[in-house]
Amino acid sequence: MYKHILVPIAGDHNPHTGEALEIARALRDKGGKITALTVLEAIPPYVAQHIPAGIDEKNREAALASLNAELGGVKDAKAEVVHGHSARTILEYAAEMDVDCIIIASHRPGMQDYFLGSTAAKVVRHAPCAVHVVR
Ligand code: ADP
Repeated sequence: MYKHILVPIAGDHNPHTGEALEIARALRDKGGKITALTVLEAIPPYVAQHIPAGIDEKNREAALASLNAELGGVKDAKAEVVHGHSARTILEYAAEMDVDCIIIASHRPGMQDYFLGSTAAKVVRHAPCAVHVVR
């Protein structure tokens, strides 16, 4: 059904991750790919000048290790960690990488009072492709 499915996964553990990946597997075409993406908030320049060089890359590597751990040995999804601003970067990534479906949790754990979290809401509103929201 879809050739490239994007599953955004926030850095904090989300109980919906397994379900989102299951849905991704069910919806992708034979030979289609799945990318799990974590966006690390970019460190503002006025802070960056006070922290040691290379810290960004160390953070990225740590986040990639934890995303791979969260994928739990899933062989058919690629883990990606990029710096940016969560919703905007998810949307840019989707447009640049020819993503045709995004599968996103409706909110982070503990925020069940909201129908849609702020990132999920922006992705639903502005995505260039289909979006499947996991509740
Ligand atoms: P809330 O506003 O309740 O924290 P969000 O809309 O931010 O909820 O989060 C909903 C979902 O959006 C998360 O479970 C995750 O799938 C995705 N998401 C949020 N932030 C990020 C991020 N920095 N990187 C990747 N995915 C994210």
